[in-house]
Amino acid sequence: MSKKTIKIGNILVGGGNPISIQSMTNTHTENVVKTVRQIHELTKAGCEIVRVTANNFDAAQAIAKIKAQTNLPIVADIHFDYKLALEAIKAGTDGLRLNPDNIGSMQNVLKIVNAAKERKIPIRIGVNSGSLSKEKIAKYGISAEALVESALEHVAILEKANYEEIKISVKASSVPLTLKSYRLLAQKVDYPLHLGITEAGTEFGGTIKSAIGIGTLLEEGIGDTIRVSLTANPVKEILVAKEILKALDLRKGLKIISCPTCGRTEINLINIAKEVEEQLQKYAHLDLKIAVMGCIVNGPGEAREADFGIAGGNGEGLIFQNGKIVKKVTEDKLIEELIHLIEKNAH
Ligand code: SF4
Repeated sequence: MSKKTIKIGNILVGGGNPISIQSMTNTHTENVVKTVRQIHELTKAGCEIVRVTANNFDAAQAIAKIKAQTNLPIVADIHFDYKLALEAIKAGTDGLRLNPDNIGSMQNVLKIVNAAKERKIPIRIGVNSGSLSKEKIAKYGISAEALVESALEHVAILEKANYEEIKISVKASSVPLTLKSYRLLAQKVDYPLHLGITEAGTEFGGTIKSAIGIGTLLEEGIGDTIRVSLTANPVKEILVAKEILKALDLRKGLKIISCPTCGRTEINLINIAKEVEEQLQKYAHLDLKIAVMGCIVNGPGEAREADFGIAGGNGEGLIFQNGKIVKKVTEDKLIEELIHLIEKNAH
């Protein structure tokens, strides 16, 4: 956790505040209808900060219309053009992501900083392994030293402009390089850190890389806000981010524990577990542990720790609440009865 705190819209980042979850829209930002629709989907899934690209004037100006239709803090992603940053600030953006060294003259950086200061808009410096300068690569190779030195140079420019509403990321697509880079960075700065594995990959592989990379750093106390990057619908990024935080006990919410099945399993537990997970999505905010177990040999024991649980038998199953058997029902009624019990007791 960083010592410093910044505020993006109504979300506090750093200083021991809860780890916030971010994503980025993949619509053309100037298509306000589509962008707002996606932001609403992300909000419903649990997104807390959303980034949109401001890659042209229409996109930067569209932020005003988008903001009128959502309460989610918006971060504008800027590359190279300081005028787009100014336009995004004018349109009411809650944060910027830009690297000052790519903006050009100090004069232009100062224009952004002065406008950002007025509205207390934080700036994220985001250095990626794929966009390191030739000089840095020549000096250090693609390494943690190169990423961190590059980030610190951007930081120095903002500090020179008397600006400290800063958040930093040093992402790589390699998990070990990401870990090394953030560890090194965390030793050097007190600014909040935005964690992520860049270009992590498709839903399956990217989820594993993100969970290992982001999870390891969070467990070491490094990081203040996270973005899981997946080549998938951004809503999936939120679901994965939430699971990472819940797995580390950094966030409350519904946890499903289920057994891997074995030769003792007499019911279709794989389908049952999947369906329980799907049907309980609407209760994702409830701080409950649900056990879905394949047999009554180990099932009830495991289910003891759970608030509610089921354990399968031959074509039938037991339903548990806090370790006590509530009911025995046929296999086809198991899910229905479990959900009924949860709905009756969990509010
Ligand atoms: S709970 Fe039962 S069915 Fe599931 S893995 Fe353990 S012994 Fe096998």
